[in-house]
Amino acid sequence: MAISPRKAWGIIRSCVKPLGSIRKPLDEAFGYCLAQDVRADRDMPPADRSAMDGYALRAADLTEYPCNLRLVGEVAAGSSACPGIRPGCCASVLTGANIPPGGDTVVKVELTSLADGVVSILEPTKPFMNVRKRGEEAAKGDMLLSAGTVLGPAAVGVCATVGLARPKVRRRATIALLCTGEELRDVSQHAGAHQTRNSNGPLMQAILAREGFDSVTHEVVPDDPQLTIDALKRASDSADMTILTGGVSVGKYDYVPDSVRAIGAKLRFYKIQMKPGKPVLYATRGRNRHIIALPGNPVSVLTSMHVFVLPALRMLSGVREEECRPSIRLPLKSRVKSKSGRSYMALGRVVNKRSGPAIEPVESMGSADILAASSADGVLTVPASKTELPAGALVEFMPWRANL
Ligand code: AMP
Ligand code: MG
Repeated sequence: MAISPRKAWGIIRSCVKPLGSIRKPLDEAFGYCLAQDVRADRDMPPADRSAMDGYALRAADLTEYPCNLRLVGEVAAGSSACPGIRPGCCASVLTGANIPPGGDTVVKVELTSLADGVVSILEPTKPFMNVRKRGEEAAKGDMLLSAGTVLGPAAVGVCATVGLARPKVRRRATIALLCTGEELRDVSQHAGAHQTRNSNGPLMQAILAREGFDSVTHEVVPDDPQLTIDALKRASDSADMTILTGGVSVGKYDYVPDSVRAIGAKLRFYKIQMKPGKPVLYATRGRNRHIIALPGNPVSVLTSMHVFVLPALRMLSGVREEECRPSIRLPLKSRVKSKSGRSYMALGRVVNKRSGPAIEPVESMGSADILAASSADGVLTVPASKTELPAGALVEFMPWRANL
C-alpha cells in the first residue's frame, strides 16, 4: 500500500539516529554539525576595546571645544602597553586596542589635530563613544552555539574566537550509490541506440558533494538477481546509507525489492503516493543503517534525493529535525495542473516579480526529462487533494540549494 509523502518522512525520521561524534580540526570543521555546546572561554571582548583609530580620554574632560589634552602614550592592537589616563590627558589607541585605565571614551582621529604632544578635540563627541565594553557581546561561560548547530563560516569564527581548535562534531554518513540497469553505460563509454548513459550516478554524486559528503562510492549493477543481492549486501555492510536507483518497480527485471529482503533488511515502506517517485523503498539494517531505493528516471531521483534522502542524511549528520527539510512558501506565477490522488512534485524556478519573488512552474516532458530539471531551482508540491493550483496561490517550495 502506497503511503503519503508525509507518512514516508515520518517513518524515515523515526528510524534515523544521529551518528557518533568525532573531533575535527577547526580548518576541516566547516559544514559539520556541532555535537557539543560552545561557551565563551572569557568575556567577549575580554577587555574594554577601542572600536576606532583615535584617542582614548575621560568623558568628564569634554567640557569645551576645541578641548586640548596632553598625549601620554599609544596602545596599538595587540599591545599590552598601559599608559594611565589622568584628567586632562589622552592616549592614542588603534582599532582593537585595549582602552588604557582611566579612559572611557574614544574620539575618532578624524575629529582631532595633534601638535607638540597636545591633542585638540575639534568637534563635540558623545561620552563613552567608540568603546566596545568588556563582555558586551557575551560573558565568560555564556552559551554561544548549541549542539546541533551547523558550522557555517560565522560559527567557525565563533569557535576560533573562543579558542576551540578541535570542536566535537557529528560524523558524516558514509554513502554507497548503486545504479541498477542492464542498459546503463558510463559517461565515457559509447552508448548504442538501445542503451542509456548513467546520469543518476553523477547527478547524485553532485548533490552529495554540494552537501559536503565526501565518503561516497558508486557502482553500476546489471539487472541480475544474485549480482544485485551481492552488491547490496557489500554496500550496506560498509556504508551508513545505501542509495539505489532503478529496478525497484514491478517490472520483470526489477530485482531490488527481493534483494532487500534477501539480505535480511527490514522493509519500512514501499511506494509513496507521489509523482514522480512512486516506487520508493525504504529499509533499515541493524540499529542505524539505511537503504533507500529510488525509481530509475533521473527527475524522480533528483526529486526523491531532495525530499527524502538528503533530509535523512542531514539527520544522520546531527542537523536538528526541524532544519532537515528546508522549504519556503511563495506565490505561484502561473497555474499548475495535476491529477489528484498523488502529491505532485512539480519542477519550479524562483523568479523575481515586481511584487517580490514567485515560483514559476517549469514545463517538463515527465520524469525522464532531466533537461527540464536543469532549468529548475526545486520542486513545488501540489497536494494530493488538488487538481490545480491557480496563479497567486501560496505553494510549498523545496529548493535544491539550501541557501536559495
Ligand atoms: P527502472 O526504474 O529501472 O524501471 O528505470 C526507469 C527508467 O529510468 C528507465 O528508462 C531507465 O533506463 C532509466 N534509468 C535507470 N537508471 C538510470 C540511470 N542510472 N541513469 C539514467 N537513466 C536511468
Ligand atoms: Mg531498470
